[in-house]
Amino acid sequence: MLYALLDLLVPQRCPICSGPLDTDAAGLCDRCAGLMLPIRLPTEPPLAAREAAAWFQGPLRHAIHGLKFQNEPWRGRALGFAAATLAPPLSAFDLIVPVPLSRERLRERGYNQALLIARGVSLATQAPMRQSSLARHLHGEAQSSKGRDARRDILGAYRARSVAGLRVLLVDDVTTTGATAIACAAALMESGAQSVASWSVAAAP
Ligand SMILES: [Zn+2]
Repeated sequence: MLYALLDLLVPQRCPICSGPLDTDAAGLCDRCAGLMLPIRLPTEPPLAAREAAAWFQGPLRHAIHGLKFQNEPWRGRALGFAAATLAPPLSAFDLIVPVPLSRERLRERGYNQALLIARGVSLATQAPMRQSSLARHLHGEAQSSKGRDARRDILGAYRARSVAGLRVLLVDDVTTTGATAIACAAALMESGAQSVASWSVAAAP
């Protein structure tokens, strides 16, 4: 209700470059809409596919930085909606699950940017989204350790539920190595998911 009201009062901006919307390309300006193209990235089991909607560079890189580190949550849902409309997931799925944040990060940031993006993806694809299906139960940041240690730390950091028989689409803001998505996929498959694919707004080249 409040957001609907704000949409009427505040002129819409492009969630990537913050510029005016000349024509409405799924809620992006024409120039930013041109950045969207489905990307397939290398993956490994149990993650069946790893996809993104654009490369993590230029204005999109700035927008995601703002969303994560400069308290700009307004970008999240619009970005998810636009990216999933213009470069939709290639894998078939029944349920959208956002990658959870650690409790510390959530407290610091005040919101999970992957959840905001996932709401937009759900709106664009008409598929249900369920945040509670995946939780991060080990807290603290794996980034403090490097390479193989970080990978070992992150595997087993997630717990899943209520996904039996479902094809899950994991949604995140940026995919880099795929280690997070693989750890999430392991937990989801252990809980009986039929398959897990990941889709991110951006892929780090
Ligand atoms: Zn733009």
